[in-house]
Amino acid sequence: MTAMLQVENLHQEFRIGGSLLDRMKFADGRLRFPDTRVKAVNGVSLSVNRGEVVALVGESGCGKSTVAKTIARIYRPSQGAIRIEGEDISSYGVREMLPVRSRMQMIFQDPFASLNPRQKVRDIVAEPLLEQTQGRAARKEVAQKTLDLLARVGLNTEHAGRYPHQFSGGQRQRIGIARALSVNPGLIIADEPVSALDVSIQAQILNLMMDLRDEFGLAYLFISHDLSVVHHIADRIGVMYLGFLVETGSREKLFSAPRHPYTRALLSAAPSIEKTRPREEIELSGEVPSALDLPSGCCFRTRCPLAFERCKVERPTLKDMGDGQQVACHLTDEPERDTQ
Ligand code: SF4
Repeated sequence: MTAMLQVENLHQEFRIGGSLLDRMKFADGRLRFPDTRVKAVNGVSLSVNRGEVVALVGESGCGKSTVAKTIARIYRPSQGAIRIEGEDISSYGVREMLPVRSRMQMIFQDPFASLNPRQKVRDIVAEPLLEQTQGRAARKEVAQKTLDLLARVGLNTEHAGRYPHQFSGGQRQRIGIARALSVNPGLIIADEPVSALDVSIQAQILNLMMDLRDEFGLAYLFISHDLSVVHHIADRIGVMYLGFLVETGSREKLFSAPRHPYTRALLSAAPSIEKTRPREEIELSGEVPSALDLPSGCCFRTRCPLAFERCKVERPTLKDMGDGQQVACHLTDEPERDTQ
C-alpha cells in the first residue's frame, strides 16, 4: 500500500546574513555577501501510513518544525523527496501545490496567529474549500459544510459570525482543525498543536484529533516537544536532535526500551512517564550546539555521557535493529560500552 506521506533524505539549509549591512561589514574592497548556512534538517527520512499517527519529538530548535513546514511546502526543500500518496511534490510551485493541499493540511501551535483576525469564523473555515474549487463551490453547500464542521469540532454554530479574538485558545484550535478538515485531507501535519494550551484543554483537543482520525481515517504527522503528549497518541515516534533523526520506533518500543542516549535522557526528564522507563537515568547537561557549526562525528557527542573516541570522528547513521527500531549510535556496535 502506498504511504500517505513518504520523506526521503530531506535536507533543509537556510542562508543567513547577506543584508546590505552584512555586505558592508564583511566587504574587503569587493562586493560580496557572507555565505553562512544553517543546517536545520539533515537527511531525515520517514513515512506515515493512512490512519497512522507518527510523532516527531525533540527539544526546541531540533528541526522538527522545520521538517513539518518543509513537508507542507511552506519552505522549498534544499534536498530530498517528499511524496504524498506516491506523488513527489518536492519541487512543486504554488500553483502545482493547490490540488495537493486538499490531501494535506497543516494546523499550527498558535491558532490565533494563523487565523485572520479580520475574518469571521465561517469565512476562515470556508476559505480552503473556496480556494480548492477556485470559487466555484455552491455558496449554500459551502455554508452548510462550514456549520457542520464547526459542530463536529464542538463549537456552537451560532458563533459562526464571530471573530477569532472572541474565542478561547482551545476554541481557536478547534477552528483551525475545522478549517483543515474543510477540504477532506488524508494527512494533517500538526505542529505543536496543544503546547500553547492548558493541560485540561490539551486532553480535549487530543481526544478530538483522535476521534477525527477514527471517523475520517486521517493520518497525522504530529510535532511535539512533550513526550507525555506523544505517549498518548503516537503509533510511531521519531526522535530528532540538531536536525538529525537519532531514533525511530513504535511507541511501545521507544518508551519501554529506548536505545539512543538522547532518547533515554529525554525520558529521564519526563517524570509523568517515569514508570515506563526501565533503564538508569541519563541527565542532559550543556547547551545544544549551534546548527551553524555542527560537531564532528555524532551530533550528540558534546552532551553524551557515553561518548568515546569513535564518536568524535564518525557520524553514526540510523541502523535497523531488526525489531522495527532504528538507532543512530555507535553503541549499537559496541554494547559493552553501554554501561548505564
Ligand atoms: Fe553518544 Fe557516541 Fe552514541 Fe553519539 S554515537 S549517542 S556520542 S555514544
